[in-house]
Amino acid sequence: MFTRATLITYEKAKKLRSVGIDTLQVTVDSHIPSQYDSIVGVKGSFNRMYRGLYYIQNVGINVFLKMIISKQNIENISESIKFFRDAGIKSFGLEVVVPVGRADFDILPTEQQIDRLKEEISEITSLYPDLEFNLTYLKYGTPKQCAGGITSIFVYADGETGPCDKAHAFRKQLSFGNIYNESLKDIWKDGPAFFRNMRNNDERCLSCDAKSTCLGGCILNSLILTKKIEADPMCKNISNKEGDLFPAIETVYI
Ligand code: SF4
Repeated sequence: MFTRATLITYEKAKKLRSVGIDTLQVTVDSHIPSQYDSIVGVKGSFNRMYRGLYYIQNVGINVFLKMIISKQNIENISESIKFFRDAGIKSFGLEVVVPVGRADFDILPTEQQIDRLKEEISEITSLYPDLEFNLTYLKYGTPKQCAGGITSIFVYADGETGPCDKAHAFRKQLSFGNIYNESLKDIWKDGPAFFRNMRNNDERCLSCDAKSTCLGGCILNSLILTKKIEADPMCKNISNKEGDLFPAIETVYI
């Protein structure tokens, strides 16, 4: 279960624990209150998040701390990790921002910044071997099967449901249904069939040997980079590229 923890009260945390939630993924982008508030766009959010984080831990729920990395915070990530380690967090998921919604392409970190971050993480790992890290960023290669609609579902604040947190900007287009109109159970059971099967009708995917494992790759990559639902443009079979980072906007629309 994912949360930003800003709306978590002690009662809500206790209820979550009582229904069997033992781990929550909490998204936290910075340990600096002004930077955190500026990234989420709401003043006072850091204090609300920090209070929620305290309640979650206080009722015995483990926290997996997700940090979305951009040019805005990449220089402070090491300090943030140390800060949240002191607050009792041991598992960190670091994910380079996907340029969608309020996130523009110009906040993508550079390759050099990502390399430097990798070095910093390995230094922190040698200092604190009890910490676990998972660093992810988009690059050209072999697409993995998206779990959205297969093993996971995301509920947005307006009740729409969809494949993942990052698909927020496309939630109407990719909606599985709205929990204010039908139950989550029914949405899960009867959700759009294409999310359980091939994600696109692109001939390049339909004739590909890998289609049963990747199901056509990431729809979000396709919507961001081509504005259509088609073969994942980050796939090495489509792009003839491998290992390069998610492209900057200038290289996409020229
Ligand atoms: S061509 Fe399509 S089906 Fe084949 S690996 Fe790439 S995205 Fe997956």
